[in-house]
Amino acid sequence: MQSNMMPVPLTIPFILERARTTYAAREVVSLLPVGRNEQGQPIPGRHSTTYGAVAERALRLGAALQALGLAQGERVATLAVNSFRHLEAYLGVPSAGFVLHTVNIRLHPEQVAWILNHAEDRVLLIENVFGAMIPALRAACPKLEHIYVLGPTPQPIAGVEGYDEWIAGHDPLRQYPPLDENDAAGMCYTSGTTGNPKGVLYSHRSTVLHSLASAPKDALNVGEADAVLPIVPMFHVNAWGLPYTCAMFGAKQVFAGPFTDGPTLARLMQDEQVSISAGVPTIWMGLLAELDRARNEGGPYDLSGMERMIVGGSAAPEALIRGFQERHDLKLVQAWGMTETHPLGTVSVVPPGVQASSDEGYTLRAKQGRSVPLIEIKLLNEHNDPVPHDGHSMGRLMVRGPWVVDSYFKDEGQHNFVTLDGQLWFDTGDIATINEKGFMQIEDRAKDLIKSGGEWISSVDLENAIMGHPAVAQCAVIAMDDEKWDERPLAVVVPRAGQTVTHAEIVEFIAPKFARWWLPDATVLTDNIPIGATGKFLKRELRQEYRHYKTKDFPHRADTF
Ligand code: ADP
Repeated sequence: MQSNMMPVPLTIPFILERARTTYAAREVVSLLPVGRNEQGQPIPGRHSTTYGAVAERALRLGAALQALGLAQGERVATLAVNSFRHLEAYLGVPSAGFVLHTVNIRLHPEQVAWILNHAEDRVLLIENVFGAMIPALRAACPKLEHIYVLGPTPQPIAGVEGYDEWIAGHDPLRQYPPLDENDAAGMCYTSGTTGNPKGVLYSHRSTVLHSLASAPKDALNVGEADAVLPIVPMFHVNAWGLPYTCAMFGAKQVFAGPFTDGPTLARLMQDEQVSISAGVPTIWMGLLAELDRARNEGGPYDLSGMERMIVGGSAAPEALIRGFQERHDLKLVQAWGMTETHPLGTVSVVPPGVQASSDEGYTLRAKQGRSVPLIEIKLLNEHNDPVPHDGHSMGRLMVRGPWVVDSYFKDEGQHNFVTLDGQLWFDTGDIATINEKGFMQIEDRAKDLIKSGGEWISSVDLENAIMGHPAVAQCAVIAMDDEKWDERPLAVVVPRAGQTVTHAEIVEFIAPKFARWWLPDATVLTDNIPIGATGKFLKRELRQEYRHYKTKDFPHRADTF
């Protein structure tokens, strides 16, 4: 029997309309580059607007796109930083019936061109600071017909119009096109750490549901009273959905533009009284160092308005969570997700009865947490049999839910999916444990797991423990080849400025936490660990460099066995 509830489709125009009317006066702040200092670095300037103005311009953008004669469902690409103009595209592009394709600007230009071609983008909105790429993109992407530059350009670029002038020439869209809630609204490519990037298409429905599920207290805790600074780029899984979640609930949005250094972020958080922020661990490491420095030099920042700093993208070491809490009374909350999950999958909020700053609390906070409502997770072994949720058995992490991908764009292969009892599950490629209370912990990417003597060693657990050592700034643990055991762990360590550390000291420091056979066989000291386009350690490169560490003679060998 059918219900008698209205089958109202869940679409992005609801978010746009709410921002335009209910929250019209709420502020949207962006840092934009205004000139350069003596060292040639861009100087941040404050730009302030409102949801009302953003929504109006989003509707002008929608009308301008329709006037180009695009067919409904065509992709509109952005190569842009976090700013109010990008937010206009978030709201205006899907509401006018097109698909917002946010492209990761940190990828290699050839990969950017590959992605634009694969998505068949005909329109590109490109930030003025990336204008130099335009001729190369034109040459490499024959389908790209219309390019608009976001922000002022010092010199006109041939054949390219300014976005502001373009949208100003159109009246705001008066009527939304008919939209099915399952129509594509957004598109993101995975960062392609293995093989070519894969395209994921978010729907209107998945975006609306993801926004609703992200806001509650036990998820990201977003409400109208908040000022939210997503440091995670808007070209990386929709800045974890925050632009939509904030617009839906009326939170003030704060965008850092191209600025990601610790001092600028700390000042922005202070000046705008930011209450929620989100970023990858490397961003938070930079901010913690800046907060420590400022306090030690007697000029601490006032971040008393900050309620929750969300960390995800790779594992947050317990030492980082403790560092913020114990030295600055700031709460780092871990979340897990991926491009294929929109991205919110799990959040680690300590349950009642556990003190957040007790040892038990920190242990839970260093896990990736429990799944948010409507997201299911489970573990399988290599034969697709269930692995117990006992907190220590490792298995392949499978996920399913209304904002989880069910296939890739133009991809026939279904290798990342498993059907169990008639239900489709997505294989995340992560190896995890889940405890009895549902707290999931990522142990590794399947490809980074160290297989020693037929058993698995979690590189993530080792890294997190080693990063607790006071002389260690960063650490990645990788597999090196071993004749007897197949693979053994090798620690690649960046010491803190002016400090050094030995292999023996590292092993002694972490030994109480691990079985003996888990302990790394060697440690390499280095100045920096390569970081990829989404802010994560490039372990693949480290592995290429060091996989023969045990058997070959390395000139810079830091430790022997
Ligand atoms: P890519 O996988 O292409 O690098 P994503 O941003 O989609 O880009 O990354 C998703 C992966 O990032 C997850 O599958 C997981 O391995 C890792 N990840 C995300 N959040 C966390 C976290 N909090 N802790 C550990 N790993 C994480």
